[in-house]
Amino acid sequence: MTYQTIIWLEIHIKLNSVTKLFCGCANEQEFDDLEANTHVCPVCMGQPGALPVLYQQPLDKAIQLWLALGCEIDAQSHFDRKSYFYPDLPLGYQITQLARPTNIDGKVDFFVDKEFVESRTVRIRDAHIETDTGKSTHQWGGVLLDFNRAGTPLVEIVTDPDFHTAEEVVAFLKQLQRIARYNNVGDADMEKGQLRVDVNISLRPEWQEEYGIRTETKNMNSFSAITRAIAYEVARQTEVLDSGGHIEQETRGRDDASGTSYVMRSKENAMDYRYFPEPDLPPLDLDEAYIQEIRELVDEWPYARILQYRTEYGFNKEYINALINDVEMNTYFATTVAEWQDPAETAKRLVGPIQRRLWDQEKSLGDVAFTREQYVAFLQLIAEGSLANAQAKIVMKEMLDTGQDPTTIIEEKWLKPVGEDEISARLDQIFGDKPDLLEDLKWGNMKPMWFVVGQVMKLSGGAANPGMVNGLIQKRIESWE
Ligand SMILES: [Zn+2]
Repeated sequence: MTYQTIIWLEIHIKLNSVTKLFCGCANEQEFDDLEANTHVCPVCMGQPGALPVLYQQPLDKAIQLWLALGCEIDAQSHFDRKSYFYPDLPLGYQITQLARPTNIDGKVDFFVDKEFVESRTVRIRDAHIETDTGKSTHQWGGVLLDFNRAGTPLVEIVTDPDFHTAEEVVAFLKQLQRIARYNNVGDADMEKGQLRVDVNISLRPEWQEEYGIRTETKNMNSFSAITRAIAYEVARQTEVLDSGGHIEQETRGRDDASGTSYVMRSKENAMDYRYFPEPDLPPLDLDEAYIQEIRELVDEWPYARILQYRTEYGFNKEYINALINDVEMNTYFATTVAEWQDPAETAKRLVGPIQRRLWDQEKSLGDVAFTREQYVAFLQLIAEGSLANAQAKIVMKEMLDTGQDPTTIIEEKWLKPVGEDEISARLDQIFGDKPDLLEDLKWGNMKPMWFVVGQVMKLSGGAANPGMVNGLIQKRIESWE
């Protein structure tokens, strides 16, 4: 039978706030290299009498992320206690927002194909803030507990069942990652556990309206692992249904090494967690002015940017990828274009020689030897016709090597542009040898144009400005009798 695949996601993004959510302990972005239990206090260790206090920055960051996801913020909300026992949960409960999440009804637009043409929209059902657990490591026949991560802030995002393919899921997650990075709320690096995704999958016969029973797959730490896990689960459920079996609602752990998954726990519901309003924290009451303040910090959505690059600037996918996947590069590009309105030329040098150099040396744009002002001056020299392409390449290489001013480099390297006089002399030479060329051009046969421009470029060692050569030929055509 043919089935339709329905997927929805539960996502956790680690916020990059300075402190944990309810105490002042440092919220490191990578805990693996730290000595265990060095970032703890009575609050995040759940000592009797120690009370949580909501810290401002994690809340600010969460709200910024929610607004960037297009969510509606509920000014009145509260925290809930989700009770369960795990050795790495020192309080014996997690502080979350079940009954009244601060925001609902978001939506995220993203492109599903590599060319950034076909777009999709996924609805966000609920996004709320909660605390992370500590970390347990099974070793030497026992369990080692590290509470450095306990109480650090997470945003949980639950989508509507709007996905049908792994390709859509991965494209959405990449967009979510960009949104987190552009808004500086977190790096959302999957391999570092800063972006965790649970995939809920169900199948239904194509004629059926109601959803099938879903399973949830956890423990995937890369986009490719998610793709493999979805393919596996769809195949597994298809086989069960085709053989007349029933899908059990269960949580499955993915074992990517063996390419399979296993049952972690079967059906569970909210009853098991004994949710109730957190008595140690007052209800959350946000005022409109505060929300507005944060709204102003929200970065324009990556979707709008990608659309602008493709339709308005006419960039190809290589340019778009290079500019969109690196926040620093994107900011540099946007700031430069705001000042020097030539996106194509600005991107050409950034994506080409500059990015290649940064990759080679494993550096970032902040380490580039020249200033952004010098970069704009360089673009200006190209636009004025003072630097032909061949020379521009030499100047850019020199700027990257030495950080020198483009004009200084031109003077020192004798890269003086070929002036109108010299171009005219070359044209005299070419048309003198082949007067037919000019005659053809005069009568509207433009074929020889590129040949003539090419000849001038060749004779001037690539140092002439093609625009200027073109202009001078046009002049001759117009004055020819
Ligand atoms: Zn603490």
